[in-house]
Amino acid sequence: MYDGRTNYIAGRWRAASNGATFPSLNPANTEQMIGIFARSGAEDVRQAVEAAEQAYPQWSRVPKPERAALLLRMGRLLEQNKEELARLMVLEMGKVLEEAQGDVQEAIDMAYYMAGFGRMPDGYVVPSERTDIYCAARRVPVGVVGVITPWNFPIAIPSWKIFPALLAGNTVVFKPSEETPGLACRFVELLVEAGLPNGVLNLVTGYGSEAGTALVEASGVRVISFTGSTAVGKQIAARCGEQMKRVSCELGGKNAILVLDDADLELACKGALWGAFATSGQRCTAASRILVQRNIKTRFLQAFVERAAGLHVGFGLDPQVEVGPVINRQQLRRVHEYVAIGQQEGARVVTGGSVLTEGDYAKGCYYAPTVFDGATPQMRIAQEEIFGPVTAIIEVSDLEEALAAANATAYGLSLSIYTTDVRKAFRAMEQLEAGLVYVNLPTSGAEIQLPFGGMKHTGNGSREAGWVAMDYCTEWKSVYVNYSQASELVRAQIDTAGKASHPV
Ligand code: NAD
Repeated sequence: MYDGRTNYIAGRWRAASNGATFPSLNPANTEQMIGIFARSGAEDVRQAVEAAEQAYPQWSRVPKPERAALLLRMGRLLEQNKEELARLMVLEMGKVLEEAQGDVQEAIDMAYYMAGFGRMPDGYVVPSERTDIYCAARRVPVGVVGVITPWNFPIAIPSWKIFPALLAGNTVVFKPSEETPGLACRFVELLVEAGLPNGVLNLVTGYGSEAGTALVEASGVRVISFTGSTAVGKQIAARCGEQMKRVSCELGGKNAILVLDDADLELACKGALWGAFATSGQRCTAASRILVQRNIKTRFLQAFVERAAGLHVGFGLDPQVEVGPVINRQQLRRVHEYVAIGQQEGARVVTGGSVLTEGDYAKGCYYAPTVFDGATPQMRIAQEEIFGPVTAIIEVSDLEEALAAANATAYGLSLSIYTTDVRKAFRAMEQLEAGLVYVNLPTSGAEIQLPFGGMKHTGNGSREAGWVAMDYCTEWKSVYVNYSQASELVRAQIDTAGKASHPV
């Protein structure tokens, strides 16, 4: 159990400089504490940023294949400790074991995937318009990267940010969510065990309004990579803008599944169930709207509601359980408030709609999987991110109306269509305004070898994963070298360097 010495700065675990702490609780039983964590403030962040600045010159000069080899070791250590991390995730964050294993697996995959870039081209040479001029562009690290993450993918999301940053030669200060500090500590312990030099990766645990804001304000931080709510993302982006600090924002979603009348209804029903209720609806890609063509709505609704009502809700280490608790009591209240708002707006709860309080549920933060019927695209439950096990069925007359309704929110993360008509599928792929578009698959299920991120208020255009994973934490440097007459010396050096690196 963690005892408050949870900041990892310059290669040493330490308490917050003023000794302040905060607890992390199990959402399935809020009487159970996971540990006590350092409640960091501006001074702790200052020390962490200083350590990262000091480590940067040396780390950025380590050959990239060597940094990649370190990532491979990190991947192996995560793999060896996958079960322990997944079980801790069930306890601290509440997702069911199988999903927790998937979360850790994404980090393992990301470590191996990024390691592969260690020997890939990271620039290019182009012909010059002028004689004896060498022109090349190279990707270079930015310096110190500030990483701020949410609690819903507590291992996967930090890995999408930290591994590309380290491979590119940056040093990192990591501020995880205050809901999952235990997982962040264990993750950092394993990465350090792989052999990271002191100061290359630093961890500060604590609250967003304290440690988070201090990291955003720190002048030594060159880029902030943030995943979290749109409201906080906008504040951070505004502050970064004032400082001319780069910022990558991955924010909220209001995703939809479109079910057309030619769809495989069994497949659509299964997909919608996963999309709406996986991780108790606490995914940025959760399907909180289901747009169903009018002539099949009754059939779809019946099958969907029957399954939603039959989902097993409970503690995620129980193999029977399909839906775990929501993250905390505040979120439980918020979800219930949204259900009341939906009812006031005229939508009808057909299953769920209540906090679960009986028996073992009483100690945890459990909400019944909830389905609304009779919702319309403009209702608040169809416009605002609820982040809980709640979805709304909305009737549409045809593909045109479905596409228009799907696009009619401020967000643009993940949209999915179920159809057996390839022409409609391609129309949808072209017209849906989202960073992720799925056909005959649910809104959740991204693979790390493709870019991940959203349009509109879901982000500021940046993407994570895929071969663009390093874009957020690198700059392009173009170099021009004149090796004509007066530069004989330079020419000789380029020739020698060329021979040395190409002995055959
Ligand atoms: P949040 O915005 O409350 O917090 C995210 C992180 O920001 C936490 O570490 C928090 O401590 C920190 N923070 C809060 N206020 C801050 C401030 N003023 N300055 C600096 N840091 C601050 O979000 P959350 O509740 O942890 O996560 C849920 C949200 O994350 C949802 O909106 C979800 O859609 C979104 N999300 C998006 C993606 C994506 O890739 N688009 C992925 C996962 C989650």
